[in-house]
Amino acid sequence: MLDSEKKELMIQTLKNKVDKQILYYLDICARCAICRDACHQYKITKDPKYIPAYRAELIRRLYKKYFSVLGRMFPNIYEAKEVDDEFLLSELYQVAYACTGCRRCMYYCPFSIDTLQILSVAKAILLSAGMGNQILQELSDAAIAKGENIGIFKDIFVKMLKESEPEIREKIKDKNAEIPIDKKNADVLYVALSGMHSILPAAIIFNKAKINWTLSMFEAENYGYFLGDSEKAKTIADRIVKEAERLNVKEVVITECGHAYRVINFFYEAWTGQAPPFKVTALIDAISRYAKEGLIEVNKNSSSEIVTYHDPCQVGRNAGFFDEPRYLINSITDNFRELTPNRTKSWCCGGGGGLVAIPEMDEFRIKTGEIKANQIKEVQAGIVISTCENCRLQINSLNERYELNIKVKSMMEFVAENLKV
Ligand code: SF4
Ligand code: SF4
Repeated sequence: MLDSEKKELMIQTLKNKVDKQILYYLDICARCAICRDACHQYKITKDPKYIPAYRAELIRRLYKKYFSVLGRMFPNIYEAKEVDDEFLLSELYQVAYACTGCRRCMYYCPFSIDTLQILSVAKAILLSAGMGNQILQELSDAAIAKGENIGIFKDIFVKMLKESEPEIREKIKDKNAEIPIDKKNADVLYVALSGMHSILPAAIIFNKAKINWTLSMFEAENYGYFLGDSEKAKTIADRIVKEAERLNVKEVVITECGHAYRVINFFYEAWTGQAPPFKVTALIDAISRYAKEGLIEVNKNSSSEIVTYHDPCQVGRNAGFFDEPRYLINSITDNFRELTPNRTKSWCCGGGGGLVAIPEMDEFRIKTGEIKANQIKEVQAGIVISTCENCRLQINSLNERYELNIKVKSMMEFVAENLKV
């Protein structure tokens, strides 16, 4: 049972978060149910609570109870619900943290209703009552703590990078190749994920293209965003913005991670009211530009293995990078096969929205990835490329569960492997 203070906080959060845009979405929904079959989670589970319009309906029910005269007077007729309704809160938690944020429902909705945006209200209400997702909370807090104590990690990090440099030098036959860190006035600050898999292939490409670059001390991923806590998300993003300002770089290149790119390029300005004072580029965009400008060249691969590409929702539908990956893949292989549907209509792999980090969602996530697994089977792919870490982790899980017998690669890895030296 929630105490009255918590209830009041939840009502205030509801009031503050339901702005004109969200009210418009709540009002205009025609209950046509077109979004139902656009959502992979409903399509696989057939559970009505995963229908995008129903997810929004939970917020509408709360809103009616406190901010609509009819809802207040006749709650049963208008299905208005109190913020401490336990069944509603449990459904709200499940549908908000299950949503991968793929926005396929928005693409198909005749009014372009953004369920993800409506669910940001759900997460805010849950957080105000201390009912946010625990794992995402811990991961965001850990990232913030690391940012505050970055000096402790620097020596270990630099040592690890130095140990990797011989591999880059050997790969591109350049004895001066390096992984610079903390380099003032570099043209590019590259923000990777934790792990050398996200640093090494990019370092090979930057060195081969002779880019004046430096590596960020911070990781690109932002669990505060998945948690739905814009203050934490802003604090995590701020570390990168401040580092870029301190180093006076011209461009920040965000690794192959869809949400990380969107956080810095789109949401940061919305949260702070200020655009970052540098250009923000997705790594896929940078690599395809280097290839088009002749800064790097790739070899045509002689392997007969079929290569396919999964459009990550945050890189494709939500950021518009469709041609860049296809340009690079087609430069390397003649055996590219498209998944159907693809581009704006691409099915979500099922792993976005932070789901790959939430153990309680594992079974649901792998089950609801079945559509993607079937698409991959249909093209008989041997290699699946995707330009998002979440997608790659999920497709690896799908590989195991659905016995796809594939190799999952990032674009930087595929390009680095096939680089002309
Ligand atoms: S498709 Fe759009 S208008 Fe139709 S039910 Fe879904 S959210 Fe409402
Ligand atoms: S954003 Fe994706 S997962 Fe979320 S409700 Fe819409 S279709 Fe479903």
